[in-house]
Amino acid sequence: MATDYYQVLGVPRDATPEQIKKAYRRLAMKYHPDVADAPDAAEKFKEIGEAYEVLHDPNKRSMYDRGGDPLGGGFGGGAGGFGFPGGGFDFTNLVDAMFGGQTSRGPRSRVRRGQDALVRLSLTLAEAAFGITKPLKVDTAVVCPRCSGSGAEGGGEPVTCGTCHGSGDVTQVQRSFLGEIRTSQPCPSCRGYGTIITNPCGECSGEGRVRSHRTINVKIPAGVATGNRVHLVSQGEVGPGGGPAGDLYVELSVTPHEVFKREGDNLEVVVKVPMTAAALGTQVTLDTLEAERDDLDAELSTVAIDIPAGTQSGTRITIPGRGVPRLRRDGRGELGVTLLVQTPTRLDEGQRDLLRQLAELRDESRPEVAVAKHGKGVLGWLKEAFS
Ligand SMILES: [Zn+2]
Ligand SMILES: [Zn+2]
Repeated sequence: MATDYYQVLGVPRDATPEQIKKAYRRLAMKYHPDVADAPDAAEKFKEIGEAYEVLHDPNKRSMYDRGGDPLGGGFGGGAGGFGFPGGGFDFTNLVDAMFGGQTSRGPRSRVRRGQDALVRLSLTLAEAAFGITKPLKVDTAVVCPRCSGSGAEGGGEPVTCGTCHGSGDVTQVQRSFLGEIRTSQPCPSCRGYGTIITNPCGECSGEGRVRSHRTINVKIPAGVATGNRVHLVSQGEVGPGGGPAGDLYVELSVTPHEVFKREGDNLEVVVKVPMTAAALGTQVTLDTLEAERDDLDAELSTVAIDIPAGTQSGTRITIPGRGVPRLRRDGRGELGVTLLVQTPTRLDEGQRDLLRQLAELRDESRPEVAVAKHGKGVLGWLKEAFS
């Protein structure tokens, strides 16, 4: 076991439940992602939550003291911990199920891990390609500022429930012709907590958390695509009782661009070229996708394209290193420029005469039929680009 939970909370190995609770609250307030700005705060906050999850529960604590792993990797390690939509997961129940604590569950903890949350964020192609830090508004649960998550007004402590005497369950006995049937249910007075908050906090009604709007800056790496998710540790909902926050997943969707089309790491663009320029050759200057960046590098905002004499419609010219940066790797894809030769329309008399002369000189006044063989998808791409 890598983490020493006692060390994480800064308490001695024989700490009382009160000491553990106090240490947890103090550290949780200090490292909560809403208030802390240390770079490792989120990781620290999660660690504190894990330590508390184990040490405040007598069963898990004794398992831990004997060298066991009461969290069994089920906590946040990415092992199926993603409970969206709707669910979140009741961490206490999960541990119970894993370790067979079914028959006598004991009171359930008021402090539980918060739900993971999923939000969607829309990006332009330039933002997705080159990366950006974007503010994102999330509607989430945060630690109640009035009771610091305890749920009790004025620093009061929960008292033992009189109905279940702290066990959290009530047992009902029913007589039937098969004999006595005993059923155990969560205590209705305390909802299974074993304790009652006699004077609930006026802000959160005893929940220990309140809903709040928060704006977080999400760093989008260069090269992301629709469907990619950014995983933000401990930026989800704070749990009941001010418990450790779940994670936040930001799912990205990229809106299509009018000019540029992304194909993997390549950017594709279609450039129209007049018939005469295609025949004689020329150079044109194209505004790149980078022209849309805020932190514009003027040198990258345009690219010169050499169109050789005799260029055919559908020719694709590649410009290496000017495509999309590779996600979390070095290098970039290529920029593919497909040339579309434009046949002139609306000729005036003089132009028509010149073209007729040219046709006669080239012996093309009455051309014979010339069939083309199927090409390699160039026409398909053109068709798609202009559909
Ligand atoms: Zn409160
Ligand atoms: Zn009760």
